[in-house]
Amino acid sequence: MTYKINNFLLVSALSLFLVNCSLFGSHSKKESAEDTKAPAEGAAATSDQKTNATPDQGQAFGQKQLDQEVQVSAMMTKMDAENMNWTYTGDAGPKQWGAMKPTWQNCSKGNRQSPINLVWRKPSAEKPISFNYSASLWSLVDNGRTLQVNFSKNNKFLIDNREYELNEVHFHSPSEHKLSKRGFPMEVHLKHSTPEGDVAMVAIFIKEGSPLSSATEIWNRWPKQKGVQVPVPDALLNPADFLPARLSYYEYQGSLTSPPCTEGVRWVVLNTPLEMSMDQLTAFRKKYSSNNRPLQPINGRNVTNYP
Ligand SMILES: [Zn+2]
Repeated sequence: MTYKINNFLLVSALSLFLVNCSLFGSHSKKESAEDTKAPAEGAAATSDQKTNATPDQGQAFGQKQLDQEVQVSAMMTKMDAENMNWTYTGDAGPKQWGAMKPTWQNCSKGNRQSPINLVWRKPSAEKPISFNYSASLWSLVDNGRTLQVNFSKNNKFLIDNREYELNEVHFHSPSEHKLSKRGFPMEVHLKHSTPEGDVAMVAIFIKEGSPLSSATEIWNRWPKQKGVQVPVPDALLNPADFLPARLSYYEYQGSLTSPPCTEGVRWVVLNTPLEMSMDQLTAFRKKYSSNNRPLQPINGRNVTNYP
């Protein structure tokens, strides 16, 4: 008798579960997808998350912006659902990414992939770059693979008479790129894009040394929950805090360093590292360590460096 009752309860519970799944399928999908969000460079629309605003920011951004957010968040739900549980190690690690989804084939079959080992050669002619950054509204997302800082609009990166808008900043430890085979404890990626969707990634290496005050500000506000965007209403942050004084750099054509490994990304890797203290590096690594894709073949690509 007991067995029968239990069995009945089990079946009822299972039916309820299935009903819930079908009734709230899209909702559950969204929630679970939040946990499997691609890192910053995973998709162009990810950066638009930053337009998710607090009521205060909502006034500043305006209704049109809020309407766009709804569209963006609908897009995100679809994209999140498509993002599988890729990882940096094990069965879903970098060697498997290309086989996990047809649209991720570039991860294994692409021939202009990132990161790469950068070798310093005699500097080419000068090609100045500039950053038109200022103190900005910001928010944080722990996307399950790194900590991402989303910035309000109006921070620009200029190169070759092209203007790219800063979308977000995130961190890899250890570094993804190498300088003449030398790695660094951390690499910061500043992702920019044009309205047409062209992506320019600026990378800055971090070596151990003095504390970087903006890192403390960011780490101190690390969101408790993954996949939830947390606005920071009480302080502005200037993305220029992540730029070294000297702007000499390497430039090459590469890809996103995580699925879908999309190519056509303009990489600008600054070769002057910034510093963070060991405490700051350790604090980050307690959350994420080894969130770096291994080096990819250069395949004869031009890497130019500018003094
Ligand atoms: Zn990155």
